[in-house]
Amino acid sequence: ASAARREDGHVTPVMAQFVEIKAANPDCLLFYRMGDFYELFFEDAEQASQALGIVLTKRGKHLGADIPMCGVPVSRAEEYLHKLIALGFRVAVCEQLEDPAEARKRGSKSVVRRDVTRLVTPGTLTEDALLDARRENVLLAVARVRAGEDAFAYGLAFADVSTGTFRVCASSAAALAADLARIDPAEVLLSDALFEEADLRPVWDELPAITPLPRQSFEGAGAEHRLAQYFGVATLDGFGSFGRAELIAAAAIVAYVERTQLGARPALAPPVRDADDATLRIDAGTRINLELVRTTTGERRGSLLGAVDRTVTSAGARLLARRLAEPLTDLSAIRGRHDAVGHLVEEGALAAALRRRLAAVPDLARALSRLSLGRGGPRDLLAIGQGLEEGLALADALRAAPPADLARCAAALARCEPGLARDLRAALVEAPPHLRRDGGFIAPGYDADLDATRALRDESRRVVAELERTYVEATGVRTLKIRHNAVLGYFVEVTAQNADRLREPPHLATFTHRQTLAGAVRFTSPELAALESRIASAGERALALEQAIFDRLAERVVAAADAIRTAAEALAELDVHAGLARLAVDERHVRPTMTAALDFAIEGGRHPVVEQALAKAKGGFVPNDCDLSAPEGAEGGQIWLVTGPNMAGKSTFLRQNALIAVLAQAGAFVPARSARLGVVDRLFSRVGAADDLARGRSTFMVEMVETAAILNQATRRSLVILDEIGRGTATFDGMSIAWASLEHLHEINRCRALFATHFHELTALSQRCARLANATVKVAEWQGDVVFLHEVVPGAADRSYGIQVARLAGLPPAVIARAKAVLAELEAAERAAPAQRLIDELPLFAAARRPPPEAAPADDALAAALDAIDPDALTPRAALEAIYALKALR
Ligand code: ADP
Repeated sequence: ASAARREDGHVTPVMAQFVEIKAANPDCLLFYRMGDFYELFFEDAEQASQALGIVLTKRGKHLGADIPMCGVPVSRAEEYLHKLIALGFRVAVCEQLEDPAEARKRGSKSVVRRDVTRLVTPGTLTEDALLDARRENVLLAVARVRAGEDAFAYGLAFADVSTGTFRVCASSAAALAADLARIDPAEVLLSDALFEEADLRPVWDELPAITPLPRQSFEGAGAEHRLAQYFGVATLDGFGSFGRAELIAAAAIVAYVERTQLGARPALAPPVRDADDATLRIDAGTRINLELVRTTTGERRGSLLGAVDRTVTSAGARLLARRLAEPLTDLSAIRGRHDAVGHLVEEGALAAALRRRLAAVPDLARALSRLSLGRGGPRDLLAIGQGLEEGLALADALRAAPPADLARCAAALARCEPGLARDLRAALVEAPPHLRRDGGFIAPGYDADLDATRALRDESRRVVAELERTYVEATGVRTLKIRHNAVLGYFVEVTAQNADRLREPPHLATFTHRQTLAGAVRFTSPELAALESRIASAGERALALEQAIFDRLAERVVAAADAIRTAAEALAELDVHAGLARLAVDERHVRPTMTAALDFAIEGGRHPVVEQALAKAKGGFVPNDCDLSAPEGAEGGQIWLVTGPNMAGKSTFLRQNALIAVLAQAGAFVPARSARLGVVDRLFSRVGAADDLARGRSTFMVEMVETAAILNQATRRSLVILDEIGRGTATFDGMSIAWASLEHLHEINRCRALFATHFHELTALSQRCARLANATVKVAEWQGDVVFLHEVVPGAADRSYGIQVARLAGLPPAVIARAKAVLAELEAAERAAPAQRLIDELPLFAAARRPPPEAAPADDALAAALDAIDPDALTPRAALEAIYALKALR
């Protein structure tokens, strides 16, 4: 580079500084502060101008070539940062560390000292302007260690820097994708090596922002020490026991947070380790299918979360999202949450009072995080004060509440130091300014010294007014004014016509001419100069006093961080319970009876999202029962095979039952008349079919991969929802796969399952599979049209009504007529060769542990009837009748 420099021209000192700082932050866009702008240069400028839609210009030359440049005003920097981060960029903010005047003092060629003060990355944001209030912002690290010959153990650590939560858990190659989907991070840290691993590529491809780090960041040696140091403890034993991979991941989080915050330390809570299998496992595809916290198009509205969220605080909304993403599996913990919701459903007045108070609670956790990073403002202090105060009042209101979950929250709130809340409230004005540097946020009466200084400042203002009157009288210039600006300080201003009066004796001695403008002339005077310094020093002193008070209060807040964080969590939890109680009342949800058995009996179940969407439609939502409970003495749950035409409501029915399981285990009441549910360990769904062309997989391939995962992993405690499998291939292929999958679920997985299909042939399987029941969604025909009744009833659909549905959709009449003719032909052929043989002859799985069912007495009658038939002597019509007769014998 130095050779190039000599040949190609000179490098300005500013550019030399830029190049050096940029070289230290190669993976970031560099926001380089120059006066009132952050400037970007070279490639950064090209990328940013395109991403932000701002003008790309040039600024001088570097090594003989034009320097591309673009800039954003400092006052609007957050807005631009927000856009860049959302697009996955990382930004290094480089500030001027001294006044330009100081630099000039060092010599005419010297440059203002600058350095990066902060790295802004998607996973380490803390400013409200950069964050979604109702959504967590999680930074996650993945670590992997060898755990035997060719086995690996994975550890995940994840923190929300904006609120201070910090958790770790164990994972595995197989569970990684599901864990990442559950945690839903905004940014993921992993080692270069892991990032390059071909097998894991598909997992990383699903993530929003990945930050690969050098291998050293994931070394085991110093991990424990680094964590202990961060949390100021001698050993981590007090936090629980962690696996090696988990420790490494947690240490990587801490190191990265320190690096991006340039040494400032957010008040992270000590890491909490999630117990294995404490949550209902839901794979990534199922999460998307069921639209738990966002729809397939990424919106909150229209998702389960959107439909059930009645929280009134942002922290409550974040916790509810977390709970829906991680329903529990522990029976008593689930019942505990239901107790809390139930109490608030019964005590309507208490719930209403709770919600009223909660509505006034600000975002404590995020305010605390900013204060601990030295990035907080007066409003953050006020937020803490208000939040703690409301918390204390709530603790009082809940003192008598029996449910343990509510009592625990009340206790956490009561533990908060009341003195701190009181002092914060007393110290701050009702509506403080956003920035601490503006001053004016400490309330009068809080600090005597500040009050006196302010009085002096204000008193001086009165003196100015008096002086103005004196000058007016002395000079006889009635329009004389005393004004103030940054350049002259206080000055006397008169119109041009009157200016000469002040230049005459005796005023000549008092007034010194300073400036002549178009219509006005300005003078200063010795009295004004004296006043100036008095006022300025009083103002400065008042501001300095306010800053000192701010620092003292912020210090006390940070010292109480643990208690404040616990209080914030308790407030969020109360908000979730109170919101769910409100939901239960408004939407007529009931408390599900939870059991440890393979129960799943729902009466009058509804789909929470579709129901709300249909609330105003005539007819409304039709509730449906579902019973997948294991029959007395059976070794597995039931499977319902649901048939019915398209648009009848099969998918809605399947999903509503899965959602009811999720809601119940998340701690909510459920949209049903009654529900008895055995805790589910894993939830699987395969619903609909979408091409995954980005990964070069056809619809069918995606479908098969997902089906394989279900058949391989579903346990007896799982709940499986399968919709229309085998659809993406030729009819016979598809039907065979659906058929075999159904048998596998029944014989091997033995889980509770709902299986929707348009292959009516499958309904025959219920003759053979004891725990398989047929259900169909009822439709009526009215004047040749289908009418959807949306009612799920026992039995099999007799027809598909595909052609009727096609007609409703507006297919041309000629096509409809032709389709009817083709169908008639096909159905005639089908009747001549039914699939009954499969039922009678093909053995089920060899792996099935049960002996074949004993021959039933009906079989003797069947055998006799069969013997009586002479196939060669039958007319086609008689053959058909014989088949019906045979069927009737079963
Ligand atoms: P399918 O899976 O059988 O094709 P869907 O479940 O997609 O049918 O349902 C089609 C439409 O019918 C839905 O968009 C919804 O508006 C309506 N629907 C479904 N179930 C019900 C119900 N139980 N009550 C009222 N309307 C329903």
